[in-house]
Amino acid sequence: MVKEPKTLQDAILYFANADNCIAYLVDRRWPNGVVCPTCGRMDAAYVPARRVWQCKTRHPRAQFSIKVGTIFEDSPISLEKWLLAMWMIANCKNGVSSWEVHRTIGVTQKTAWFMLHRIRLAMNSEASHKMGSGGPVEVDETFVGPNPQKTHRAKREARYKALSARPKTPVMGMLDRELRQVRAKVVPNVRRETLQNEILSQIEKGSKVYTDSAPAYDLLKAQDYIHEAVNHVEEYVRGNVHTQGIENFWSLLKRGLRGTYVAVEPFHLDRYVGEQVYRYNNRATRDNPLNDSDRLALAVTQIVGKRLTYAELTGKELKLPETL
Ligand SMILES: [Zn+2]
Repeated sequence: MVKEPKTLQDAILYFANADNCIAYLVDRRWPNGVVCPTCGRMDAAYVPARRVWQCKTRHPRAQFSIKVGTIFEDSPISLEKWLLAMWMIANCKNGVSSWEVHRTIGVTQKTAWFMLHRIRLAMNSEASHKMGSGGPVEVDETFVGPNPQKTHRAKREARYKALSARPKTPVMGMLDRELRQVRAKVVPNVRRETLQNEILSQIEKGSKVYTDSAPAYDLLKAQDYIHEAVNHVEEYVRGNVHTQGIENFWSLLKRGLRGTYVAVEPFHLDRYVGEQVYRYNNRATRDNPLNDSDRLALAVTQIVGKRLTYAELTGKELKLPETL
């Protein structure tokens, strides 16, 4: 068996072969053997000529491919392209644009855009535990707005006016210092009730919570948190109390958005935030030396049970002929 890829160069060679792609996905989706997604039987026969399995029970969809029930479902794009695109987005520090994917793997820019959104969906995973049971949690919010710098100079001024009229979108984030994990999401506003409810749902009561002195965090003590705030007018750090970890995450997020994307619609911003959270939480650290191939593999384990249709993404039906 061919060894799985460790570098981009390996990945390009390895994923150029459709059978390698299937083997790679099967190992992660069905590590104990292929399971029929419809009835759960485990003795489906592989039909190599069509690269599908045939379930032995007679039921609709008895013939199934590795794409069924994943973010790749119904996509005519080959697995070779999907996996390379996944490699790129899981590993490029500042993200990749749909134009880069378009040029690198040879699909239209529109197709690349849609693929990237589906991949981001796989990168988003719901956390199953609360933060803060060990060390302190830094909590902060930031505002993300459009970036007129990326547009052509001649058009920039007019565009700048149009874009700066648009409201910025608030994003709330939390960094568990002991776990070195971030959670972040778009929030509808930064009112006390909104931010406090997020804290209640994500952070264990009794935990240390560090914030700036925004009034939205005023009542955390009453909610049984050990709350400490730094007033940024006077100080940024008081001993252990600061929010510099989550602020570093904000700069990573904004660098990615600035460098790669012209203007992210507020509607899509949450998925971009999730993409950056994925890379941050799966970055290499001394205790957790993850590499590029680990980051791809992790994303691949999360492709199942998620679908995103073009209509859900854009609010409109994709015009025929379908590109995806
Ligand atoms: Zn079956």
